[in-house]
Amino acid sequence: MLQQVNGHSPDSDAQSGKSHREDLREFLGREAPLHQLDDLTKVNPVTLETVLRCLQARYMADTFYTNAGCTLVALNPFKPVPHLYLPELMREYHAAPQPQKLKPHVFSVGEQTYRNVKSLIEPVNQSIVVSGESGAGKTWTSRCLMKFYAVVAASPTSWESHKIAERIEQRILHSNPVMEAFGNACTLRNNNSSRFGKFIQLQLNRAQQMTGAAVQTYLLEKTRVAYQASNERNFHIFYQICKGASEDERLQWHLPKGAAFSWLPNPERTLEEDCFEVTREAMIHLGINAPTQNNIFKVLAGLLHLGNIQFADSEDEAQPCQLMDNAKCSVRTSALLLQLPEDMLLETLRIRTIRAGRQQQVFRKPCSRTECDTRRDCVAKLVYARLFDWLVSVINSRICADPGSWTTFIGLLDVYGFESFPDNSLEQLCINYANEKLQQHFVAHYLRAQQEEYTVEGLEWSFVNYQDNQACLDLIEGSPISICALINEECRLNRPSSAAQLQTRIESALAGNPCLGDNKLSPEPSFIVVHYAGPVRYHTAGLVEKNKDPVPPELTILLQQSQDPLLAVLFPVNPKEKTQEEPSGQSRAPVLTVVSKFKASLEQLLQVLHSTTPHYIRCIKPNSQGQAQTFLQDEVLSQLEACGLVETIHISAAGFPIRVSHQNFVERYELLRRLRPRTFSGPGRCSERSPNGKEATLQPLLQDILHTLPALTQAAATPGDSDEA
Ligand code: ATP
Ligand code: MG
Repeated sequence: MLQQVNGHSPDSDAQSGKSHREDLREFLGREAPLHQLDDLTKVNPVTLETVLRCLQARYMADTFYTNAGCTLVALNPFKPVPHLYLPELMREYHAAPQPQKLKPHVFSVGEQTYRNVKSLIEPVNQSIVVSGESGAGKTWTSRCLMKFYAVVAASPTSWESHKIAERIEQRILHSNPVMEAFGNACTLRNNNSSRFGKFIQLQLNRAQQMTGAAVQTYLLEKTRVAYQASNERNFHIFYQICKGASEDERLQWHLPKGAAFSWLPNPERTLEEDCFEVTREAMIHLGINAPTQNNIFKVLAGLLHLGNIQFADSEDEAQPCQLMDNAKCSVRTSALLLQLPEDMLLETLRIRTIRAGRQQQVFRKPCSRTECDTRRDCVAKLVYARLFDWLVSVINSRICADPGSWTTFIGLLDVYGFESFPDNSLEQLCINYANEKLQQHFVAHYLRAQQEEYTVEGLEWSFVNYQDNQACLDLIEGSPISICALINEECRLNRPSSAAQLQTRIESALAGNPCLGDNKLSPEPSFIVVHYAGPVRYHTAGLVEKNKDPVPPELTILLQQSQDPLLAVLFPVNPKEKTQEEPSGQSRAPVLTVVSKFKASLEQLLQVLHSTTPHYIRCIKPNSQGQAQTFLQDEVLSQLEACGLVETIHISAAGFPIRVSHQNFVERYELLRRLRPRTFSGPGRCSERSPNGKEATLQPLLQDILHTLPALTQAAATPGDSDEA
């Protein structure tokens, strides 16, 4: 199987009985064609260029996975390669005595992670961090891992329990199409781009069977409901309902064939992801029955009609904005589908309520056209974000195991990669902040741990200067002064401040930080953060407002009036909330900004990750056109730089790339004792077990062996000689 898959002989020396001579040749790295180097630590010398060449050679040879020390590099094939993901192959990796010796594969990481759970004295939670830029294959890889565990961690075969196990595994897998329908969209960079971050914990019982799962999501890009960049689309689910509804449903949801919706750009384009049936089927598996589904889709149709409400400028400022042609009909249909009083909907969109003075008197002020648009969009974002969160909680309630029925978990993290566009704002700041945190976690857990291990083993080794990104994190999140703190403060003070003022504040308060880039030539108000993956310019215009993410209380009150059962769940009339909106003198609740909420959820995630043994998969996109067999060096290069891969390889390669247990090593190279007895004589450190009881690193021994090379090469060159000769 492995030979077929990868087109060249397997590296499973432990299983295939590869000759010692072959093994040594490989170890020496002689003549090995680049595409056969399945670990980038074996590339010599390790530079961006050699790593790039090796990955390119492998990609062109249809070899998509490569090890890079502790990390797996996954190149996106951009073509179907079903033979790489067959259940038989999953079982092969699962059954292998040493899966790390098989060809690099996502299943190998999956299996090693799985074994790690139980191989230690105390079961330890594991996590797999999947990273990479948009379209690189993170979601694909996470799905692959979930399928892998659904096969290898399935419950036993007794009929009754098997049935239950199948149900839970299937349910867990069915959560993917549902979450992707509601949370993914076609963007310029990926037809199926995840617009939220996801951490899923696969829960295992003592017997290491999967008994459930729990999903946590991060920062859904809710603005997409009401705004799509040119040539991008809204979330898949909107296209699914418009294309896949039956005649009856079309009538119910007021979606006549060919209807135009301003929030539904590019409806003519058909994508694989537009399949409504798959979403519905998956929802049924998750216990979301037909009436509830109907309710969800009706609300979504209501949002589409809401988006068609267009306002015209009012000639008289004292009067509410007029409606554009046809907008009246959209108001009516939207109100009908969302089960809101039509006049209240229109009034809420067009008239602002202001409370002022000591008595908190209520004033009503007609909104400008732009304000009306913002309020309309705000209603849609509010409904969609709460609907998404509710769906996630429903999914969790259906897949989460009872607390007593699981002991450990394997966490899969699929988060948006580092982003740098011509125009970067709060979203990119949050995303890149998350990436900085994950990079720090990586450095802390892997690089530092490895260096410390060498120290413990008393091995001589020149310490690599790994890039510590603490200064950048101080700049973004530090206390008391940092970019986040300053933006939050502007929100709290609630004062009018211009984009230029914010730039000045950031630049003067944080001038000493080396990660604040030189911004002298900036044409627009902005600041530059020098991230580990490169500098990014963030524009300050609109940053504070976005961070506030203000929801006028009237909008929530409006939605609380809905007669729709789903909206009633999403917008409960909370007595506490009501009192807060009553005139309350000077008291002010602390402002929960986007940044502070994000920071809190990120800290929680990091805490969970810190409590696990992490594994890393770096997904790489060989070209931005999504073409098979196309490897664009420049594009890959910038991704390699962005993830600091070469640095990772350096630390593995400069250290001890080959780790063999002492016993295995002696068994294998016993014959050398006869060639150069001195090598193994004496009580040297390497003839004993490693002090920490783990696998010993055997660089000094190997160096000794290298001295015996002339004799060995001669032996290897003699035809017909046996290994033991
Ligand atoms: P985003 O950050 O935008 O969500 P992503 O990293 O999650 O991007 P994916 O959606 O996983 O990217 O992958 C993009 C596309 O690449 C997939 O829809 C699929 O067509 C293709 N792809 C990725 N990995 C593979 C693979 N191993 N085999 C075949 N196709 C793949
Ligand atoms: Mg994705």
